[in-house]
Amino acid sequence: MLRRDSCLIGSLAENRVNLEISKESSKGPQPWHFALGSVESRAAARTKLARWYDDYEGVTLIMSIPRPDTDTSRVSFGPWTKLQDGTLLRIVYAPNVWLKPDEAIPMCPDCGTLFRKTREYPGMVGYAANCLDKHDPDRVSQVSRAKLRT
Ligand SMILES: [Zn+2]
Repeated sequence: MLRRDSCLIGSLAENRVNLEISKESSKGPQPWHFALGSVESRAAARTKLARWYDDYEGVTLIMSIPRPDTDTSRVSFGPWTKLQDGTLLRIVYAPNVWLKPDEAIPMCPDCGTLFRKTREYPGMVGYAANCLDKHDPDRVSQVSRAKLRT
């Protein structure tokens, strides 16, 4: 019985090691798998950097209720804030307006994208900004870096 327990513990430890190895190998070749400064190591480092956003866990909360200092006509991204449980959170303000059906569809003052219709009631139509991706500072910097690479 004792021997069986020790085998079980050993087996669990071995499985844990295998799990960690499989987690790492699922992310592809790592820079430290190759000689320092080699072409392979640098390629792995670039790949790891490019995948950084894939591992970046965060919650984006999109709201149409402005904070007191918010320009209500524009999309605005708040900073990433780390919560007590380690989750990263950022609040995005997305303009939302109610207009009469015959009024022109509003557009983003920064990129010119027309707002999308969200709801329609007799005598009222709701519109919301439809260009959050264009103004996401993380996405913009990622696209800029991708353009620099090409
Ligand atoms: Zn826009």
